[in-house]
Amino acid sequence: MCTSWNERFAETPGVLKSDRCEQTLVPVLDFEIGGSEFVTMAGPCSVETEFQLIATAIHVRSAGARILRGGAFKPRSSPYAFQGHGIEGLKMLAHARNESGLAIVTEVMCEDDVRVVAEYADILQIGARNMENFALLEAAARSARPILLKRGMMATIADWLRSAQTILDCGNPNVILCERGIRTFETATRNTFDVAAIALLKQISHLPVIADPSHAAGHADLVPSLARIAVAAGADGLIVEVHPNPAKAWSDGDQSLNHAEFDTMMASLDPYLSLRRRALREKELLRRVGLELEAMEAVG
Ligand code: PEP
Ligand code: MN
Repeated sequence: MCTSWNERFAETPGVLKSDRCEQTLVPVLDFEIGGSEFVTMAGPCSVETEFQLIATAIHVRSAGARILRGGAFKPRSSPYAFQGHGIEGLKMLAHARNESGLAIVTEVMCEDDVRVVAEYADILQIGARNMENFALLEAAARSARPILLKRGMMATIADWLRSAQTILDCGNPNVILCERGIRTFETATRNTFDVAAIALLKQISHLPVIADPSHAAGHADLVPSLARIAVAAGADGLIVEVHPNPAKAWSDGDQSLNHAEFDTMMASLDPYLSLRRRALREKELLRRVGLELEAMEAVG
């Protein structure tokens, strides 16, 4: 890694690549995030009904998703919008896991809920609005569940990495960074997708990085393009909002893909995923050649 990046992010050494750690692999059920597999998380913004959740889970699994997303506790910009089903929603997620075999990622919004959310979820999501809620970060870290840390809407990369470092410092190594767009002067899209953040983090950090094209775009028609851009930038996975009938969604319908649109998006990733596999193979080859050269130099 270039020394200047090391200096720039010297405050958070634990998140940076080092001889000790080139890449963190976050274990989830029987697979890993951050390795050779590109992992897609998909599902509705909010858990609404058993039918909505199970139908979506079964569908996204058939299209290649490994993890079901869905909010039971919803952080909403309006106090009058649907706030989620709470514990009933967590139970629906657990039922969907049994029916589909998918792992579950869901948001935890406050310290008091960490224990119950960790009981039901495989990954705890810290939402953009809570990225700098350090008491929540610490409580979530101590649950020992992997943490999906979304970037705050006004957070710099350094702010984001400080929050990741906080989780690591609590003894939880399983942090996944999620770029979900930031607020800028542009208002045509819901947020501005910071693809450079993905490229930079993949270069300097050993933590897996995934992209959320749904919250970045705010419009379903832009989601597939942003997903492909995320793969090209080196992301380890995606989190995408999918709903059986987006027009009737209780939250974030405008940015949710329907089932057929999700299938088309997943198929459109294939050529990008082939390039990704090739790049990973080449990187591994170079690593092995480097090790052999070192060994040869050592014996003179
Ligand atoms: C969500 O994932 O539905 C969500 C609220 O995301 P964010 O915290 O990125 O706004
Ligand atoms: Mn949402």
